[in-house]
Amino acid sequence: MSSTPDTVTCLRVTVNRERQTFHIQWSDNHDCVFPLDGLRRACPCAGCQGHEKMHELPDPEIFQLPALMRWENVKVEVAGSVGLRLTWDDGHNSGIFTWERLRAMCPCCR
Ligand SMILES: [Zn+2]
Ligand SMILES: [Zn+2]
Repeated sequence: MSSTPDTVTCLRVTVNRERQTFHIQWSDNHDCVFPLDGLRRACPCAGCQGHEKMHELPDPEIFQLPALMRWENVKVEVAGSVGLRLTWDDGHNSGIFTWERLRAMCPCCR
């Protein structure tokens, strides 16, 4: 697992509803593209992952699984300097995806 140097910051976050992707551009010119459905499954909150697993990275395979549903109304908020809070169509928003976690989960880097 590679750790993110503190100097790398997130420049831009884009949700592409048509392609069902979540796109993060980092200041070191790296782009991470997550399938929305996979990212929903990767929600780091205790409710989704359980208390023991919430600090572990999810299995990379969750980003390969076929999407179970389309996400049409995903809201992205910056949670201070910590990371991103996503609000999903189902109203769920308890998970904060830290920058470090988002970068570490990047499907193309693992
Ligand atoms: Zn959750
Ligand atoms: Zn990557």
